[in-house]
Amino acid sequence: MVRGIEVHYYAVCPRKLWLFHKGIGFEQEHDRVLEGALLHEEAYQRLDKELSIDELAVVDAVDDEFVREVKLTSKMEKADQLQMLYYLYLLKQRGIEKKGLLSYPTEKKTEQIILDASAEKRLLTALGEINDIIAGKVPSYRKLPYCSKCAYRDFCEAGEEA
Ligand code: SF4
Repeated sequence: MVRGIEVHYYAVCPRKLWLFHKGIGFEQEHDRVLEGALLHEEAYQRLDKELSIDELAVVDAVDDEFVREVKLTSKMEKADQLQMLYYLYLLKQRGIEKKGLLSYPTEKKTEQIILDASAEKRLLTALGEINDIIAGKVPSYRKLPYCSKCAYRDFCEAGEEA
């Protein structure tokens, strides 16, 4: 099964998805992750605890209506949306129907995400592509705007082929 973070990585960079899936885990040490952890702590002090979905995903918080995720910036909004759709899909498969709320507190922005039929179709297409990427060879390095912030940058720029 695909993990929630892998759906996010897929939308950012297929190579990142592949490297992460193979356990080449530089991402844990990255400063942005630590920054994010602090932000989560501040934003969710008064909400329920995180919800883990069969070890595939850890959702920031859940209430009666919404699955909530807080993000540092909306620069990877499309990836955030796809990851949230996946959370909603996993819950739906377990008989729980929720909407999603993506919050970007530093930008004072909140976005509602709904798993309707077209969103579910888009998600299932993405999941198919994710499985193809994971099953294949490492995708080639292709410089992206995101690379400068990626924990795999040194690895990719050194021409490593995993
Ligand atoms: S450095 Fe760039 S190409 Fe390499 S994994 Fe990260 S985003 Fe992808």
